[in-house]
Amino acid sequence: MQEEHTAKAVTAGGQPVSLTALLASREQRVAYQRQLLADNPQAILLAIKLNIPGPVKNSPKIQHIFQAGWLALWEQLADLNCVTAQQERTLITGPAAYILVQGQSLREMKSLAMSFERDFFFGRLFDVDVLGASSDQALSRQDLGFAPRPCLVCDQPAKYCAKSGRHDLATILAALDERYQAYFVREPVLPHWSSAQVARMGVAACLYEATATIKPGLVDPFSVGAHRDMTAFTFMDSALVLQPYFEKMLVQGRRFQGDDVTALLAAIRPIGREAETVMFAHTTGANTHKGILFTMGIFLAAYGYASQAGATTLAQVQTVIRAMARHLVAQELAARTTAQATAGQKQYARFQLTGVRGEVERGLQPLATVGLPVLREGSGTVNERLLDSLLALAGAIDDSTLIKRAGDPAAVSTVKAAVAKYFALGGAQTSAGFRYLTALDQDFIAKNWTLGGAADYLILTILVGKMTGLLPD
Ligand SMILES: [Zn+2]
Repeated sequence: MQEEHTAKAVTAGGQPVSLTALLASREQRVAYQRQLLADNPQAILLAIKLNIPGPVKNSPKIQHIFQAGWLALWEQLADLNCVTAQQERTLITGPAAYILVQGQSLREMKSLAMSFERDFFFGRLFDVDVLGASSDQALSRQDLGFAPRPCLVCDQPAKYCAKSGRHDLATILAALDERYQAYFVREPVLPHWSSAQVARMGVAACLYEATATIKPGLVDPFSVGAHRDMTAFTFMDSALVLQPYFEKMLVQGRRFQGDDVTALLAAIRPIGREAETVMFAHTTGANTHKGILFTMGIFLAAYGYASQAGATTLAQVQTVIRAMARHLVAQELAARTTAQATAGQKQYARFQLTGVRGEVERGLQPLATVGLPVLREGSGTVNERLLDSLLALAGAIDDSTLIKRAGDPAAVSTVKAAVAKYFALGGAQTSAGFRYLTALDQDFIAKNWTLGGAADYLILTILVGKMTGLLPD
């Protein structure tokens, strides 16, 4: 139990830092800030860092927190004239970032920074120093009408608790862990992002998936897997033309009025069909993203609807998705209303498999229960984390693309056994796990198998990972 707690701690996987190293990094930071201001005398500098109690100042989860804050701050600065923005996420002394803004007053920028520290979920962990050449440098929180910063544990002024040593380190770290759990784990928070920002993240998610290497049976830069009509380049062309349609589907959700969201599904369908036509035109007829257009389109519209009034949660978006897709299986698969059956309808008739419609009707559950937790708990490179998420998803779903290719639902058990072996070997972070993936790719190519359904779930996982801060953006 103790061990499990330690592994889930925010500081897990981090290295303790000596006081000497901390002091040296502070000196470097101050010198760098001075240089930035000297080079840009008209600008105002926002220097951002985290204030993590204890000897560990960086870890994969600390970077999640930093990234979430960076996104939130960046959204507020989006309309301003930023001349420089840079991040140093992996420093052992803690993530840091610098933003130079032109044409703003020091007072306005200080107000913006203090509002961020006060309002953002992890704001009390952030230090946003606002520096400029102006004379009102010394403006304090009180001067600008802000209350003293609250303690992480008890809401009293943090200064008071720090001075009196009111809480021991274990208590403060437990409060930090609890905050992480609330934001990233129990009910992942999806902030109110602009439709343009999310559409761009959606495209990035498609490109990340296409780039993750090596994927069994799927197209990546190293192998086209069990596909003959497309390469990683086809996926790039396809992903890029989808951006305006992703945005349109989200905007439909943001503007939708009323409670019967089955009408929202009807409203985005023509956009999806148009996007499909454009996709086929840019892939010389290859089906690169038809499945993800359907699921991501519904996800984006549901997110737009759920976030009309502000931030929402993944669970709330899933509730909207289930409501949008109510009766989808009964209406479109079981009914067999058309003479020309789709692949999904044929599969339903043959194997009683509900495919992507069934997945949507159940609220795309594996995204929340499998994809996101594996992405979150992974500590390797982005590629390794994506591969582990993909394989975990492949082991958790009945992949309709796989069953269609194999012509037999029994293929699902074969894949599940392969996934179990992959994780027993240690996953993508071990050379044995990686070699096994390469062998699996060859095996899938020989069998003409692919994992299209799992790949679509991976894309959704990446999108939500970007929206929350689990992945760099
Ligand atoms: Zn306190």
